[in-house]
Amino acid sequence: MPSHLVPITVAHGDGIGPEIMAASLHIMKEAGARIEPETIEIGEKVYLRGISSGIEPSAWDSLRRTKVFFKAPITTPQGGGFKSLNVTTRKTLGLYANVRPCVSYHPYVETKHPGMDVVIVRENEEDLYAGIEHRQTDEVYQCLKLISRPGSERIVRYAFEYARRNNRKKVTCFSKDNIMKFTDGLFHKVFDEVAAEYPEFEKEHWIVDIGAAKMADTPEAFDVIVMANLYGDILSDVAAQIAGSVGLAGSANIGEHCAMFEAIHGSAPRRAGQNLANPSGLLLGGVLMLVHIGQPDIAERVHNAWLRTIEDGVHTYDVFKEGTSKQKVGTKEFAEAVVARLGQRPEHLKPASYAKGPKETVEHRVGDTKRANKQLVGVDVFLQWNERNPLEFGKRLERFSGGGLKFHSLSNRGVKVYPDGFAETFCTDHWRAGFMSEQDKGAVTHEQIVKLLDRMQKDGLDFIKIENLYTFDGQNGFAAS
Ligand code: NAD
Repeated sequence: MPSHLVPITVAHGDGIGPEIMAASLHIMKEAGARIEPETIEIGEKVYLRGISSGIEPSAWDSLRRTKVFFKAPITTPQGGGFKSLNVTTRKTLGLYANVRPCVSYHPYVETKHPGMDVVIVRENEEDLYAGIEHRQTDEVYQCLKLISRPGSERIVRYAFEYARRNNRKKVTCFSKDNIMKFTDGLFHKVFDEVAAEYPEFEKEHWIVDIGAAKMADTPEAFDVIVMANLYGDILSDVAAQIAGSVGLAGSANIGEHCAMFEAIHGSAPRRAGQNLANPSGLLLGGVLMLVHIGQPDIAERVHNAWLRTIEDGVHTYDVFKEGTSKQKVGTKEFAEAVVARLGQRPEHLKPASYAKGPKETVEHRVGDTKRANKQLVGVDVFLQWNERNPLEFGKRLERFSGGGLKFHSLSNRGVKVYPDGFAETFCTDHWRAGFMSEQDKGAVTHEQIVKLLDRMQKDGLDFIKIENLYTFDGQNGFAAS
């Protein structure tokens, strides 16, 4: 292998994957991409060989070596037991940032939002995607939402660094901190702290529901939007769709050590093998990859030739529109049309410009966590109890006050039902009994909690789990119940 070539790991995927990968690699090579692809097998065939992750163990060796993964879409077989390859790859390789540019190409591709040019930066590892889920009672299931300070700091810093490298003007944060004051509250707080280090940008925060509505209605009002995992998962698809087509968007998954680039759409099995599929999403994923591996000149050449092809009305079936489009082409012909335009720039659409930007840095400094004075002050004990009578249950729990802990309230799905509950409140079989120190603002010991649980089990109560209540430098580390 000539030493100037950058090795990349390539997976051709399932369905339309092999066709769009061949087209994308062909265009990039013709543009002068200095890459050396190493092929690995992932997806349906691997799943059906009984490997639940969809990736051969040996494929990780290639990924660890090249640190760059160019991935075509795969088919996840129907039925249970198959793990999401994307989630596995993101977690295993520590790909914490998902970056998805959503651009409209008006008037060449139909869109309701001609001026849209939004980049969604989504946190990729935390939030409700930690996969920590439990069934706790007959009636209640839970999924843990974990938001960390370093995780939030890394993604917010990535968003600002991205904005700086790409000459963006504004960074917006979406969260739901009016309801989730601790988890989303932290994300918003970290956004404000990091934003202060980037004075050149306009910044703002929106509550995610109204922010999402605004984005769907007036995407031109946004530039870069950073958000936690679940909101980003949903809203990046909305953004891609309203820009014109999910078939046109690529995405990058960036980590400190590795990165993965792909189209955002799936393997479209019904279109496979017919030379129909649009390779644009994967190709634009490839453009992000070329920037990442330090070949912004090639990225710019590919992107501008692609823009010119779209502008010239050479379109695959999914974006073809009588009147606007000029020529309906297949996958291969589209790729040849892009190759024929290498060296050209769009005449009306905004040209891509990567060549002068600083190289991407992904080792974003995460500050040391300041260790607070943490004090145990109480415990929430979660119990299964099958009656729907809070008054009776509350009175029974009163008997557990003592030994340093005082029972103060009972709640059901977060609603206080004892004392002073409402008869109208519907109760499930999942209860939370709150205990605090017998002394006002006093400390509690782990031993006192263990003894409380011991008394409960001797009394025949089924405790499901406990949640310790702490103060941090005197501030409550728990929502008021
Ligand atoms: P899909 O994205 O494959 O297809 C949705 C629709 O868009 C279909 O009508 C399809 O024909 C069209 N389409 C998608 N990409 C296109 C392209 N490049 N050119 C032209 N038309 C295109 O979504 P789906 O049908 O829900 O899923 C099919 C399979 O893909 C499933 O097995 C799913 O698990 C998988 N999937 C994989 C990924 C991935 O690997 N990253 C992502 C999403 C879905």
